[in-house]
Amino acid sequence: MIEESIMLSDITTKYRQNIQNLTAFEKAVLVDKATERPFSGALLNVKEEGVFVCKLCTAPLYRSKDKFESHCGWPSFDDEIPSAVRRIPDADGRRVEIVCANCGGHLGHVFEGEGMTAKNTRHCVNSVSLDFQKQAQNGMMPKDARAYVAGGCFWGVEHYLQQLEGVKSVISGFMGGHVANPDYYDVVRGGTGHLETVEVCYDPERISYREIIKHFFEIHDPEQTNGQGPDIGSQYLSAVFVSHEEEAATVAELIGELEENGYRVATQVLPASPFYAADEGHQDYYERKGTEPYCHGFVARFDKRRKR
Ligand SMILES: [Zn+2]
Repeated sequence: MIEESIMLSDITTKYRQNIQNLTAFEKAVLVDKATERPFSGALLNVKEEGVFVCKLCTAPLYRSKDKFESHCGWPSFDDEIPSAVRRIPDADGRRVEIVCANCGGHLGHVFEGEGMTAKNTRHCVNSVSLDFQKQAQNGMMPKDARAYVAGGCFWGVEHYLQQLEGVKSVISGFMGGHVANPDYYDVVRGGTGHLETVEVCYDPERISYREIIKHFFEIHDPEQTNGQGPDIGSQYLSAVFVSHEEEAATVAELIGELEENGYRVATQVLPASPFYAADEGHQDYYERKGTEPYCHGFVARFDKRRKR
């Protein structure tokens, strides 16, 4: 029983109900991290144009153009769809496990430095963790967008942003530092330069980047210059990490509106850099605890001028 609850905790709360739709074998691999027998999987020899999606949550993970013949017995890819796959240390202490970034479902392992392709990377993925979607008739691939914001302790920011309609998942992690794969406690000690950051995965057809950032400015205090609430330190500073000009323009516009309303905004606008998800013990903290955040809360800051 304990074993199973540990494994289940890797699946994002939002997708746990999907587990009941899996066969016993699919569950053994996606949830309990078993491995299918080599050369047994249905997608091993698929070469058609299309996209490989997560069987648990249908997030697009890999494209056919990145699939190659590795002779290892499992579907192999030398690249993933950007930000679709999370790398985490395997329980064996040696290998790097790969999981679906959206739902946490187990995919397989990733190996680097084998020299099999120019990208020198092999995602070794269980067929049973994937579904294959042939190139859609209209040529459109399902596509999620991502936003990155830092507003103090990531648990509170994650808690509020994941309640938005159109937001598919929010992952707590780190961005903006100068060390690869930072550990939570390294970040807390303040030596890595990272900010506690959340990755907001959303459906741009249901919610806009602007709506997400606007809400972000109303669930944390963008005026605090030394941290957020009782959490003081550079890792708790307020920031929006932007991936392109359009996002930067949207954030600048919202900050302008806040300033017009009398707020002295301390939020930094920074270029997005690699995002590192925190380990599972730091995901969905308030949902698991069943309490409300102490450090964040909603304050309407856009609709009316601030009373001085
Ligand atoms: Zn998934």
